[in-house]
Amino acid sequence: MVSLWNDAEAKAFESDLELRVYSSRLLGKSSELVLHGGGNTSVKSTVTNIFKEAEEILYVKGSGWDLATIEAPGFAPVKMDMLLKLAALETLSDTDMVKYQRSAMIDPGAPTPSIEAILHAILPFKYVDHTHADAVVALTNTPGSEAIIKELYGESIIIVPYVMPGFILSQEIARAIEGKDLSKVDGLILMHHGVFSFDDSAKKSYEKMIKLVTIAEEFNATRKQPLQPKESAAVTPLQMAQIRSKVSEVSGNSMLARLDCGELSRAFMGHPEVARIATTGPLTPDHVIRTKKNGAVISSPEDIESYAAEYRAYFNRHNDGTLTMLNPAPMWGVWRDVGTLSFGSSAKEVGIISDIKEHTMESILTAESIERYIALPENEIFKMEYWELEQAKLKKSSAKPPFQGRVALVTGAASGIGKACALAFADAGAAVIALDINPDIATMFKSSAILGITCDLTDAKQIDRAISKGVFAFGGIDVLVNNAGYFPENANIEDIDSDTWQKSMAINLTAQQVMTTKVIPFLKEGIDPAIIFIVSKNVPAPGKGASAYSVAKSGVAQLARIAALELAPKIRVNMLHPDAVFDTGLWTPELLQMRARHYGMSVQEYKTRNLLQAEITSRDVADLAVAMASELFGGVTGAQVAIDGGSDRII
Ligand code: ZN
Repeated sequence: MVSLWNDAEAKAFESDLELRVYSSRLLGKSSELVLHGGGNTSVKSTVTNIFKEAEEILYVKGSGWDLATIEAPGFAPVKMDMLLKLAALETLSDTDMVKYQRSAMIDPGAPTPSIEAILHAILPFKYVDHTHADAVVALTNTPGSEAIIKELYGESIIIVPYVMPGFILSQEIARAIEGKDLSKVDGLILMHHGVFSFDDSAKKSYEKMIKLVTIAEEFNATRKQPLQPKESAAVTPLQMAQIRSKVSEVSGNSMLARLDCGELSRAFMGHPEVARIATTGPLTPDHVIRTKKNGAVISSPEDIESYAAEYRAYFNRHNDGTLTMLNPAPMWGVWRDVGTLSFGSSAKEVGIISDIKEHTMESILTAESIERYIALPENEIFKMEYWELEQAKLKKSSAKPPFQGRVALVTGAASGIGKACALAFADAGAAVIALDINPDIATMFKSSAILGITCDLTDAKQIDRAISKGVFAFGGIDVLVNNAGYFPENANIEDIDSDTWQKSMAINLTAQQVMTTKVIPFLKEGIDPAIIFIVSKNVPAPGKGASAYSVAKSGVAQLARIAALELAPKIRVNMLHPDAVFDTGLWTPELLQMRARHYGMSVQEYKTRNLLQAEITSRDVADLAVAMASELFGGVTGAQVAIDGGSDRII
């Protein structure tokens, strides 16, 4: 570890709290120290209240804030006298602790203080830093670590045996520091949990953390063996979809899945005792809330059911009869001989799980090199997983987006209606595989929920590759939006050249058939699967000079109708016929002006020349596509809906 402290940078942060923000962010910058909201920091400061009285306040990290991005309002201001009085109680439930801490805040709008607030209050230093550093937890999760830690750190740290975070941990620490001369102590090492450092200077407290972690890192490096990645066995994306389908079924929620075959994953998967190390337990107690007690070891989808059966047995072993069981599906696992898997209900959650899994695997392999990886006993893990504060959260139901945990594949997604569909499905909570022949597709979406892949839909091999990439990233496909198309130049039938005709058939008809054929096996494994064909008003209302386009689109409509017949009852198939959507790449302002003038209209009149005098946008079409793929259309298949503001030619 290197100190990221920069005196010139730090000068801009003057007050106690500002400096606390600065050094907290330095900790947050290193994923080896804290991950996704892990760790916490505090500063003790004197403020003058409105009665002109001086008050001692602990500013401690509030829940919901991440050290990497924390700002001053992310610190909860709690009165020190109240925290010290709470610390002196003999017993206190964590629910009451949270309640009294909140009531002792000088700003009722501030976030809820960290559950480790009392612990921060009793450490008699201005700045207190706490992390779950990989190097320290890897070391403390080995059987002989206490002796090693004593030798490495000597008197510079105090070792604290494991107890659950919350009130009882603050009591344990109060006992550990009682009567000790802390002036020579840099910090505390909490077995199976992490490390605290403290000092009256923000810089020194931060740098003590770096020093304590570096000692562990350097020791681990002397024992660590190089990774021995194994080759991944070949698997099909359909096998991936079957695993994801089973995880969703067992969990009772739509879940995404991501396969990782990087070096670390292959080394972990290739470990001779992978079944033991993947199921021993979490690295630190706060991971259990996200990743469950342990990973799954998966050879086939049935192994997900065995995992769930074991999980139920574990719950029943420890439940006192008052608890609500969480869903029994795994959050991560090893796919035997292939790699590792992360699960989650959104692309964001899968990303978080994947990061925790990476750090967990790395630390487990380190612990195995040092001696052997051990975790907390099962009853301690259970206490954390079924902690009263976590159970209370279950009772607060929060609305989830309709497509959470589901995957939509959209073709022609770099512009117009296709792009609007990709964004609309993502807004509805879906993960989106966005295909387009335009290579910009790979970088145009900034959200981790949209994976842009370049793909020429007239090349079946490219379709296979794109599907495979999408499915290994998100787990499967639940919705197919067949949107890609192209509009050939107008020509009457007697003038049409064969190339134009063939090209229109290839892109507007055959590519849709090939894509549909290839995606159906995935939809059969999907959750409430649906296909939406974006067709054209040219099907019900053809126009002169557009035969190459309209005939291909009519073929698509017929394909969709037959698909609706063949794929019922599992998969719904519906069609949208957009018309006069002017915010697409086809329509430049000049072209719009020209067409409007041709009809003797203003541009606005031209855009709204339909029965409802409505201006139809790509987003309107996309929102209807989302609705058609949703439960709202649960009883509809084979339907054709025109979205055109109403046309007397179609009605
Ligand atoms: Zn902690």
